[in-house]
Amino acid sequence: MTGFDPYEVLEVDRNASSSEIKSSYRRLALKNHPDKNPGDKGAEDRFKRISEAYQILSDPVKRDRYDRFGTVESGPDMSDIFGGFGLDDALRAFMENFGFGGFSTTRARTARRRRGQDIVVDVELGVGEVALGATRELTVMRAEPCPECGGDGADPSEGMEDCPACDGRGRVRTTRRTFLGSIQSVHVCDDCDGTGKVPKKKCSVCSGTGAKSVKRRIKVDIPAGIEEGHYLKLGRQGDFPGANGISGDLIVHVESVDYTPFEREGDDLIYDAVLSFPQAALGTRIEVSMATGESREVEVDSGMQPGDVILLEGEGIGRLRGRGRGDLRVVIDVHVPRKLSREEKRILSDLSESKRFKPD
Ligand SMILES: [Zn+2]
Ligand SMILES: [Zn+2]
Repeated sequence: MTGFDPYEVLEVDRNASSSEIKSSYRRLALKNHPDKNPGDKGAEDRFKRISEAYQILSDPVKRDRYDRFGTVESGPDMSDIFGGFGLDDALRAFMENFGFGGFSTTRARTARRRRGQDIVVDVELGVGEVALGATRELTVMRAEPCPECGGDGADPSEGMEDCPACDGRGRVRTTRRTFLGSIQSVHVCDDCDGTGKVPKKKCSVCSGTGAKSVKRRIKVDIPAGIEEGHYLKLGRQGDFPGANGISGDLIVHVESVDYTPFEREGDDLIYDAVLSFPQAALGTRIEVSMATGESREVEVDSGMQPGDVILLEGEGIGRLRGRGRGDLRVVIDVHVPRKLSREEKRILSDLSESKRFKPD
């Protein structure tokens, strides 16, 4: 990670207020948004950098640390801040910051925020993914804030104006006449969802809805130890409902897990190893499948009994809560031949006279 100056990136000076920083981020993020600059690697890199800079300057603690340490590399505790910022992170940050239609926080308290739909994606996992954890890339169709207007539905060159229905108050007063007299009630303005602002002119890209449907590849971290039926929730990664709305969540549902060639018991994996009678009696080496997909040669002592277990510690399933992995238990079974030749019968009959061949 090379050093960069987030103030320079966001084109603001060191004393910039948080609203100046936010509006500058919004302007630059919209200009460089990948959807507006398809295939333009330079714009994508700028978009990521801008998001990363905003991540620092919008957080008072991070901003203060940056101000004190000056450069990215010099601070001892900077690694958690500058953990690298991928396009996914940048897009997510953009969704989070502008999944609200971009109105001020004081307004937001009285405003009605519609929430977008959750998107549920079913996944089938393999034993390796469950044992070790994995990153899955999902393709999701979802509505996102329109890259032209940032989700408020207004033509960017015209901006917003006070809502005529409520005179910019966000609330309207209605009077009803009843036999008890007239009753006044105040409620949130339908035209502006309580924000007091409406677009001067509708955005031409989204026709004023503020939302645009896009196909997105989203990386999902699958934690080791997850089970069939579990859900992973990615907050604010679902559908954006349009102006003044807030995105729903993306829910990843583990529909099934294919444990072949194992079975699962808690955090342990069970592997059945079938030995021939001579192998069990004499000892041998067998190939055992591992959760990683590789196989390992395992020494089998002589005199193995059906049901005996060879324990491969720490080769089971990663613990969802806690450290390390469970074990891989290799359970021995012994194969008895169904048919024998005359010669084989003779040898076994002779052996059966030996006291070692009698059950204990
Ligand atoms: Zn738009
Ligand atoms: Zn209104």
